[in-house]
Amino acid sequence: MNVYDGQRIAAMLKARGMVETDDLSDADLIILNTCAVREKATNKVYSALGRIRRAKKESALFGIVGCVARESGGDAFKRIPELNFVLGPQSYHRLPEIIDNPDIKLLNIDLTGLEKFDELPQMTTSPNVAYIPVQEGCNHCCTYCIVPYTRGREISRPFKDVVADTLNASKTGAIEICFLGQNVNGYKYTDENGNVYRLSDLIKYAATLPEIHRIRFTSSYPTEMTDDLIEMFGMEEKLLPFLNMPIQSGSPRVLKLMNRPDDLDTYRTIVNKLKSVRPDIQISSDFIVGFPDETDDDFEQTLNIAKEIKYINSYSFKYSPRPHTVAALMKNQISEQIKSVRLQRLDGQLNDNQREFNMSCIGKEMVCLCEGIDKTGKHLVFRTPYMQQCIVESVDANIASLQKIKITDANKASLRGEIIK
Ligand code: SAH
Repeated sequence: MNVYDGQRIAAMLKARGMVETDDLSDADLIILNTCAVREKATNKVYSALGRIRRAKKESALFGIVGCVARESGGDAFKRIPELNFVLGPQSYHRLPEIIDNPDIKLLNIDLTGLEKFDELPQMTTSPNVAYIPVQEGCNHCCTYCIVPYTRGREISRPFKDVVADTLNASKTGAIEICFLGQNVNGYKYTDENGNVYRLSDLIKYAATLPEIHRIRFTSSYPTEMTDDLIEMFGMEEKLLPFLNMPIQSGSPRVLKLMNRPDDLDTYRTIVNKLKSVRPDIQISSDFIVGFPDETDDDFEQTLNIAKEIKYINSYSFKYSPRPHTVAALMKNQISEQIKSVRLQRLDGQLNDNQREFNMSCIGKEMVCLCEGIDKTGKHLVFRTPYMQQCIVESVDANIASLQKIKITDANKASLRGEIIK
């Protein structure tokens, strides 16, 4: 979502004649787009602001947008008095005001719903992967999560607006569509005639576009995987055989404390349904270790579920108490030391899963999407249909973006492959 927001901010400023620079000391405007989901991310923002303050030229305007802006509000000005603007995730379309009035301090952290989408200019070129938000906010209220506070309550965009963005992306260079939302599979829009549209309808539409070869969506809430959506994995070949469906914990007791679906059999049933319509589908998850009151036994259950579901790549985090959340006030907070030990053990299991799946790909042929040249400047980087990174010995950036690649080697982190001519 932040990549999308960053692209839209850049497009908005370019439409006003601004150009990008890599040189901080040369910039006239510096915007830090921020994430507040864990404390570490928030701390990074403030240390980056300190760095920017020292490196920027005197006249440069600078400020923060996104979830840390929303969380900090006016306090951000107190901590960093030189800041010119603090704009929440639903008000960054107001950035041009600060350019026109450089002497004001602009603070807006309101939850304005879908207003920003109407204010942003249409993209005139799309990268290979077009991120298209379908909804914003979340109603689930997981007890650890700051998102309902920072991004607000769930609100789905009109079907016709998402369709227009998807069509525009396909006409301006996109090959892959990634539908976005904090609770993307909760997408539900009822139009003026009473027609109800779901994420499955958006997928069906995107699949009709000849320029679009790959479709995916993120982030999903397990029990919002309705049958119409599951069926899409069997019906639409363009929908990638890969789904991030976070479980967070393998302990029903902890899941209840998290206010998450706590019936593991329901989760297993969804995985099995997905596999029955798309046998090659692979699942990834997010995990939180060291949630308040998590016992050794609860944690063992998390290890067990990771092993059982064989997630092929996952994100794992130490629980981080966040303002405005219920869990931050719970008793029996877990020590940093225990969190670290548990995270290390879980990562061991997740890495084994990932390595095993990556190794099983050796010898296979997959159609992959080019992301560009890697940092060494010597290889092209592709994404497989399972979103693995695949490195190819070539720097021919002019080749078509979709290539059939034979996987020749693999390790935990990535694959290596050769383009099949
Ligand atoms: N559905 C959300 C999830 C974003 S946060 C969205 O797309 O906006 C991504 C992951 O961060 C979550 O799945 C969870 O595993 C982790 N996370 C969220 N809050 C956390 C916290 N307080 N401490 C540690 N990890 C957290």
